[in-house]
Amino acid sequence: MKEFDLIVVGSGAGLLVLEAGLQAGWTCALVESGPIGGTCLNRGCIPSKILTTPADLLREVQAARRIGLSAPDASLDWELLSERMWAKIGKTAEMEESLRAMPGLTLYRGTAEFTGIKRMRVRPAAPGGQEEEIAGARIVLATGARSLVPPIPGLEEAGYVTTETFFGPRYPARPWPTLAVIGGGIIAAEFAHVFSAVGTKVSIIEMLPRLLATEEPEVAALVETEFRKSADIFLNKRAVAVHSADGRKTVVFEDVTTQEIGEIVADEVLVAVGRRPNSDLLKPEKGGIKTDRRGWIEVDDYLETSQPGVWAIGDALGGLQFRHKANADAETLVKNLFGPAEARRPVDNSVVPWAVFTHPQIGHVGMTESEAMAKGHEILVAVNHYSAIAKGYAMGYVPGAPDDGFVKVIVDKNGKILGAHVVGPEAALLVQPFVYLMNAGYVCPPLARDSNARASAAEVDSRAKPGALAPDSNAWASTAEKNPQPMPGAPSAAPAAAAVFDKEQTACPEAGTYFPIDRSMIIHPSLNELTGWAFSMLKPVKDD
Ligand SMILES: Cc1cc2nc3c(=O)[nH]c(=O)nc-3n(C[C@H](O)[C@H](O)[C@H](O)COP(=O)(O)OP(=O)(O)OC[C@H]3O[C@@H](n4cnc5c(N)ncnc54)[C@H](O)[C@@H]3O)c2cc1C
Repeated sequence: MKEFDLIVVGSGAGLLVLEAGLQAGWTCALVESGPIGGTCLNRGCIPSKILTTPADLLREVQAARRIGLSAPDASLDWELLSERMWAKIGKTAEMEESLRAMPGLTLYRGTAEFTGIKRMRVRPAAPGGQEEEIAGARIVLATGARSLVPPIPGLEEAGYVTTETFFGPRYPARPWPTLAVIGGGIIAAEFAHVFSAVGTKVSIIEMLPRLLATEEPEVAALVETEFRKSADIFLNKRAVAVHSADGRKTVVFEDVTTQEIGEIVADEVLVAVGRRPNSDLLKPEKGGIKTDRRGWIEVDDYLETSQPGVWAIGDALGGLQFRHKANADAETLVKNLFGPAEARRPVDNSVVPWAVFTHPQIGHVGMTESEAMAKGHEILVAVNHYSAIAKGYAMGYVPGAPDDGFVKVIVDKNGKILGAHVVGPEAALLVQPFVYLMNAGYVCPPLARDSNARASAAEVDSRAKPGALAPDSNAWASTAEKNPQPMPGAPSAAPAAAAVFDKEQTACPEAGTYFPIDRSMIIHPSLNELTGWAFSMLKPVKDD
C-alpha cells in the first residue's frame, strides 16, 4: 500500500489544497474519476456561462428595439457557441499531463472509496486498469455533487440529459426544436434561458408553486413573467411518467393539488431537479466519516469530518453549492493546515452571494425578507426599480412594465445589511458591493477602536443619517464595552491573527451596515443609482 502525507479526492476546489500540500513538500496523491478540473470547469459554471452570455446579449438586443436599436436578424450561431465552449473546456488532457509532471504528486484516474480509517481503494476509470490501495496521513474530500435523477417511471428507457451528459456525450449538434425541463431551480432557469434564446420551444415542469424557490417571490415572479413570453411553464406539477415514441418523448405530469394529469411532448428531456452527493461512490462510512441522511458529509467549523485528519470541502457538504463557496472552504482549510496555529479560524459562510445567469439575471446575497423575519429581526425594506433611475430609463425601462427589474434591500434596525436581491441587467455586478459591505468592519484597525476615533465616527454618522437608523448612543456604548482594549491584529499588520477573534466581538460599530453608501457619491447616471438610492426609501416591515 502506498502512503502519502496528503490525499485529495476530487480535482475541483480540491486542487487548491493539493497545490498548498505540494508547496509544503508533502507527498501527495490526487484521485479523480472524471474530467480534471471538476464540475465548474467542465460541466458547470464555465461552459454554461459561455452559453448564457450570448443568450443575454440576444435578449438585450431584442429588448433594445424600444430604444431605437433595430437588429431584426439577430440570432445565435449554435455552431460557433459550441466551438467556443468546447475549446475552453476540452483541456483535461493538458491539465492531466501537467499534473503528472509535478514532483511529489501521484495522480490516480479512478474512483476512490474508503476501505478503513484513512485507507482507500482506487477503482480505475479505464477498463483493464489496476486497483490500487492507498493511505494518507491527511485526506481532503472535495468530491462535489452530481445531478439527482428522480425515479420517474419510463425515464431511463426514454432517455434524458443531465448537466453531466449535456456537457458530454449528449451535447446536441443542433439545438433541439423542443425541450422539456424537469425542475425549476437555478440550473433549469439557466438552461431554459439559453435554449429559448436559440429558438427551442422550452417547457418547464416544476413541482413547487413557483420557479426559483431560493429567490425572493417577487424576483422569481418577474423571471417567470419574462419566461412565459417564450416558454411554457407548468407549476405545481410533478412529472410522473415519461414515454418515448417515434424519437419524441412525452412527459406526463400530475397537478400536486388536484392530481389532474397533463402531458407535453418534446424532442429531449433535461432533468434538473437538484444535486446529490457522491458519497455512494466514496463510502465515507467505512472511513469513520459521518454523513447526514442524504449522504452530504458532515464537518465541524474547521471543515474536519468526524474522523480526525480527514476534512471535506465544497459541494460535498451540501447546502449552498457554488464554486466561490467551495474555493473559500479550500482557502480556509489551507490557512488552517499550513498557517500558524494561532491563526486557525473557523469557516465563515455568513455571507455567500450568488447569481442566477438567466433572463433577467438575478443577484442574491444574504437573507430574503421572510428569512429575516423568521430569524426574529426587526427589519426595514426598500425596493427601487430600474425605471426610477436615469440609466434605467435610457435602457428602456418604464414604470409598471413587466420587465422593470429592481433591487430589494433588507436591513435591520441598526442599519446592518441582512440581504440584497437584484433582478435585471448586471444583477451579479450590482449585488457584489453589498457583499463587500456585509464583510466590512469586522476587523477594526486599532485607531478606529480608540474612544476619540469612535466619537468622531459617531459625529460623521449622525450628520449623514438623521433618521431612525443612525446608530444610537447605547448601541455604540455597548460595542465599546465589548471591546475595551484596542484589538491586536490590524489588517495591515496581521490580518490572520485578528481573524481568530469572534467576528461579532471584533466588529466596528458600523460593521456590515449600509452607512458607507449613504456617505458616498454615486456615479451619475449609472446603474449604481439603482442600488445606492434604494436606502433612502427604507420602510419598517411589521410582523403580522
Ligand atoms: C450547470 C451548472 C452550472 C453552474 N454554474 C455555476 C456558476 O455560475 N457559479 C458558481 O459559483 N457555481 C456554479 N455551479 C456550481 C459549481 O460548479 C460547484 O459549486 C463547484 O464546481 C463545486 O466544486 P467542488 O470542488 O466542491 O466539486 P466538483 O467541482 O464537483 O469536484 C468534485 C470532483 O470529485 C470527483 N469525484 C467525486 N467522487 C469521487 C471519488 N469517489 N473518487 C474520485 N473522484 C471523485 C468528481 O469527478 C469531480 O470532478 C454550477 C453547477 C452546474 C452543474
